[in-house]
Amino acid sequence: MAENKRDYYEVLGVAKTASDDEIKKAYRQLAKKYHPDMNPGDKEAEAKFKEASEAYAILSDPEKKRQYDQFGHAAFEQGGGGAGGFDFNMGDMGDIFGDIFGDLFGGGRSRQRTSNGPMKGANLRTGIRITFEEAVFGTEKELELNLKDQCEKCHGTGAKPGTSAESCKKCNGSGQVTVTQQSLFGMVRQVRPCPDCGGTGKIIREKCPDCYGTGYITKRKKIQVSIPAGIDDGQSIRIRDKGEPGINGGERGDLLVEVAVSSHPIFQREGVDIYSSAPLSFTTAALGGDVRISTVDGDVLYTVKPGTQTDTKVRLRGKGVPSLRNKQVRGDHYVNLVVQVPTKLTSEQKELLQKLDASFSGKPVEEESTKEKKKSFFKK
Ligand SMILES: [Zn+2]
Ligand SMILES: [Zn+2]
Repeated sequence: MAENKRDYYEVLGVAKTASDDEIKKAYRQLAKKYHPDMNPGDKEAEAKFKEASEAYAILSDPEKKRQYDQFGHAAFEQGGGGAGGFDFNMGDMGDIFGDIFGDLFGGGRSRQRTSNGPMKGANLRTGIRITFEEAVFGTEKELELNLKDQCEKCHGTGAKPGTSAESCKKCNGSGQVTVTQQSLFGMVRQVRPCPDCGGTGKIIREKCPDCYGTGYITKRKKIQVSIPAGIDDGQSIRIRDKGEPGINGGERGDLLVEVAVSSHPIFQREGVDIYSSAPLSFTTAALGGDVRISTVDGDVLYTVKPGTQTDTKVRLRGKGVPSLRNKQVRGDHYVNLVVQVPTKLTSEQKELLQKLDASFSGKPVEEESTKEKKKSFFKK
């Protein structure tokens, strides 16, 4: 999936040194020009709109911008693209749209809210905690949560069967009222949701007994979540059609599951690479030999050269975390070998070491008994 993505700055037509305001301004202009509402059915405009939105989503977020500036598109490779509903998180765009389009399209959002056409339901968000290994190899999890479903008794109208909702008289069924207020700047007109019908445009005289007029029944539901191998702490999985029910026959919103990955007692992770320390006995360090190293795939034997020093870094290729895009491609595991100095020695081992020490320094080994005598002599 190595598509030739255009540089985000180039997409927005700004310099790499552009300020937040310049980036926002550039995006507003593009969004206005290519917004699907302004170009119905124009696929090219839609693609341009998405491209600009993605660029803005990254460049307007200080942390993501920093990563992008440093690594380019590679910074988001783990989080982007791919099948299984794991995509660039357009759900997050909601906040950006609110920010950008709140004033850009004026009544756009409220128009959508009160239109009688089908409207997609809101996205739901939840979280899940998984272990370090589950994140590395992927897992299946079951979530239990409360989901709204259309009330079967009233088919979502909220009205008692046999009755129907009436059009609200206060707002004439539009769901909106215009309030005119005197302010410092003169008369200000404001559009607000109708207080009588709560913005629905309908008044239910006789409520459905099952759903108390809401049109929805909340049920506890189990949802299977496929967590892809390579997912990292803080990334989200999108599960289509498990959000809030749509309005007027619109499709359901999505469920966004944010993944929290627990830390591991010995492994640390950075992107697709794993870091850890492993003990190396001082004799193996000196003589060379095999050292047992824990990896996420189990223990491996690594052969060290004679004279290996403490803090030697070892790279175990392909023992890291799989890439989200292609789990055949794995990062590496970097191990810091720490030479262990023995703390408990038998008298025999002590003697051997003393002999070794003597051979290094060229002095003969002192007998244990003469040493004792010396000690007692000095004490007196
Ligand atoms: Zn009902
Ligand atoms: Zn009303």
